[in-house]
Amino acid sequence: MAAKLSKKSAISDEPQTALWASIHDKLKKHIPRQFFKVFFGDLEPLSFKGNSLVLASADARVVAHIKQRYLPLINRYANEVSEGKIVVKVKTRPTDSKAEPKKDHKVKKPRTIPTQTTSEEGRDGGSGAYPNTIILNPKYTFDRFVRGPSNEHAFAASFGAAQRPSEFHNPLYLYGGVGLGKTHLMMAIGNHIQDNFPWMNVQYTPAEIFQSDLVEAVATKTLPHFKAKYRNIDVLLFDDIQFISQRAEYTQEEIFHTFNYLYQNKKQIVISGDRPPQQLSTLTDRLVSRFQSGLIVDIKPPSLETRLAILKTKAEEIQLDIPYEVLKYVAVRITGQIRVLEAALIKLKFISELEKHPIDLQLTKLALRDLPNEKPGPQVSIDEILRVVSKHFGVEEAEVKGNSRVENIVMARHVCMYLTKKLLPSMSLAAIAEAFGRSDHTTVMHAEKKIKEMVDRDEAFRVQLQELHDELQF
Ligand code: ADP
Ligand code: MG
Repeated sequence: MAAKLSKKSAISDEPQTALWASIHDKLKKHIPRQFFKVFFGDLEPLSFKGNSLVLASADARVVAHIKQRYLPLINRYANEVSEGKIVVKVKTRPTDSKAEPKKDHKVKKPRTIPTQTTSEEGRDGGSGAYPNTIILNPKYTFDRFVRGPSNEHAFAASFGAAQRPSEFHNPLYLYGGVGLGKTHLMMAIGNHIQDNFPWMNVQYTPAEIFQSDLVEAVATKTLPHFKAKYRNIDVLLFDDIQFISQRAEYTQEEIFHTFNYLYQNKKQIVISGDRPPQQLSTLTDRLVSRFQSGLIVDIKPPSLETRLAILKTKAEEIQLDIPYEVLKYVAVRITGQIRVLEAALIKLKFISELEKHPIDLQLTKLALRDLPNEKPGPQVSIDEILRVVSKHFGVEEAEVKGNSRVENIVMARHVCMYLTKKLLPSMSLAAIAEAFGRSDHTTVMHAEKKIKEMVDRDEAFRVQLQELHDELQF
C-alpha cells in the first residue's frame, strides 16, 4: 500500500499518506486477509487537518461497515503511531474526487458484507448481523495440517476438492470424532479456494448456525434473503451436520433444497459430521443418498507418530523450545483430541514462562497433571510394542508373529515378549504368548531368560533395550 500510494507523486509526501501507511501496516497484520482486501483495498487518506485524519472509500457500504466494526481498532493504531495526537474519521469518497481511477484494485463489492469476529473459529461475535457469515481461520491451512495414516485420505480428498472445486469430489463428506481436524480441513479448503479462485464465493456454515439463521429468517419473514444467500455461493462448507436437531424437518428440507440447487449448478459442497451419513438418524434418506453419491472419507485418531509430528509442528508455531523426550511424553499421555495436545503445549509454555524454567520432563509431569484425557499411568498397547520393536530390528510385524527362525526376527520376538511382560504386568503369560502368535505360555519365560542373558553379556544390547523400554514406557 505504501508503494501504491507513493506512485501518486502529487500526494506522496503529504503527511496523511505517511500516517495512513503506518496505520495500514498495523491493521493488515491484525485483520484476516480476505476482510482486509474487501474493506481496506479501496480506502485512502483524503485529508489531514487539525488532529483529524479522514479516510475515504467509494463504497458507502464499506464505509458503514468500517465505522461499525473497525473504527475503534483504526483509532487505536492511529493513537500508537501518533502518540495520541490524531483521530481518524471515515467517509464516502466524493464522486468528484480527483483520485485517479485505479486498475489495480477492484472495489470488491462485498458479496455479502461479512461480519468481523474475534473468536477462535471465527464465530460471529454477536453483532446481530444476519445471516451470520463466519470468517475462515487463516491458520487453518493445508500447510499446517500434519498428515499421517489416520487422516491422509481426508487430506487428499480435501486437497483435491480445493484444487478443482466441484470437479472431483462432490459432495465431499468428512467424518470423525471431535478434535481430529475436520474443521481445520474444511477451512483449509476455503482458504485455498479464496487464495486461488478469489472470485469464488466461499461460505463456511456450521449446521447449527444454518438452523438458527433459518429459524430467524422464518420469524422475520426474510426467507427469500436467506435462500438467496445460500444459492449465491460457489463453495459451501457445512460443518458438524450432526447438530441438526431431530425434529427440525423444515431445516432438513431446506438443507436438501440448498444442496440440490448448488449441486445442480456445479457448486462445491463439503460437509462434516461426527459419523457416516447413514448413521445420522436426523437425516432424511434423500439427503443420505445425496451424500453417498459423492465421496465419504473418515478421519481416525492419530497414531503416536502422527501425534508427535503434530506436537512438533504446533510447538514450532508457538515458538516453544521443547526437548524431544517431553514431546514424546505428551504424545504418549494424550491420545485423543488434537485440541488437547495443543492445550498441553500452551500450558507448558505458560508454566515455563511463569517459573522461568526451561521445559523439561519434570516440569511437564507437574504441569500436565490435571489435563483432561491424561492417561492414569504408563500404558502401552501390544500393537505399539510390536510396531516399535519390529521397526527397531528392521523386520516385518507379521514375521515377528510368524514362525521364522531367522536370528533377528527371533530376537525381535523375544524383545517384544520381554517388554510386554515389563510394561503390561497385568497381562498373563498365556495372553502375552498369544498376542505374539504363540500357543504356549512357557515361550514367554524362555524369551525372558534369553533376553536377561543377552543383557548380561552385551552392554550395547542393554542400552538398546533400555531405549526401547523408555520409548514405550511413558
Ligand atoms: P474437529 O473439527 O474435527 O473437531 P478441529 O479441526 O477443530 O477438529 O481440530 C482441533 C485442533 O486440532 C485445531 O486446532 C486443529 O488445527 C488441530 N488439528 C487437528 N488435526 C490436525 C493435524 N492433522 N495437523 C495439525 N493440526 C491439527
Ligand atoms: Mg469442528
